[in-house]
Amino acid sequence: MGKVWFVGAGPGDPDLITVKGRDLVAGAGAILYAGSLVAEATTRWADPACEICDSKSMALEEITAWLIDRATRHETVVRLQTGDPTLYGALIEMVQPLDAAGIPVGVIPGVSSAMASAAAAVESLTLPEVTQTVILTRMEGRTPMPDGEALRDLAQHHSTLCIFLSITLLGEVRKELLAAGWRDDSPILVVHKASWPNEEKIIRGTLADIRDQCREQKVNSQAMIIVSPALGARNWQELKKSKLYDEAFTHRYRRGIKKELPSE
Ligand code: SAH
Repeated sequence: MGKVWFVGAGPGDPDLITVKGRDLVAGAGAILYAGSLVAEATTRWADPACEICDSKSMALEEITAWLIDRATRHETVVRLQTGDPTLYGALIEMVQPLDAAGIPVGVIPGVSSAMASAAAAVESLTLPEVTQTVILTRMEGRTPMPDGEALRDLAQHHSTLCIFLSITLLGEVRKELLAAGWRDDSPILVVHKASWPNEEKIIRGTLADIRDQCREQKVNSQAMIIVSPALGARNWQELKKSKLYDEAFTHRYRRGIKKELPSE
């Protein structure tokens, strides 16, 4: 009996899979991948003899039946997913039937598109004394939001928000943020196909104009929305420095030096 590995393929660039993930892909007897986003990573690293299948047109039951069947014939079976498998990836729905069938399961994390989008735009999701919190969320779509998780509630914190699966709902995103006290001139970032060679688009705007900008650039899928009081900090003159690199700050690996008070 083989083991089924849920492997994060990363956000698009095949080189952004982890070394562990790549090794599992290379050693897999069968790989089921989730649509065009991860096709390339599969073909680049898999063995020519590996059975490779796209799950694009499969329902959940077919996916789990496929994985269970292949696990009876191969030692290593890989389910390759975009970004990180623990975010919006139906992981538990797939793991439960495998558990029921007595098939061992492993999960290899991946670079989430939230991180890849921030990296593409050279933004930090946390910034000292500006925001120290990141909320990963989405707008309500066909999947209803649990109580207390409406965007207007989460946005009250004025921390960083990475909003998945919502690029076609930018009008709603704006309404929710305005209701939470954000201003129409608040900066907002949209990254389309973060890390995809030659296809990545970085769109910067405000709550008021981002929808029109995305429309103009024909961005209506595979995009991350980031709203944060730290956006654009690269160009700020005044920056509170992180304590981690402050010479007066002592931590586990470095003793800080006492700063002399400036004498007049
Ligand atoms: N598990 C994935 C998320 C899957 S949900 C992860 O960790 O990234 C699909 C959503 O992820 C898309 O609607 C979009 O919001 C985002 N997404 C996936 N790949 C992306 C990419 N390369 N660039 C920008 N957003 C991406």
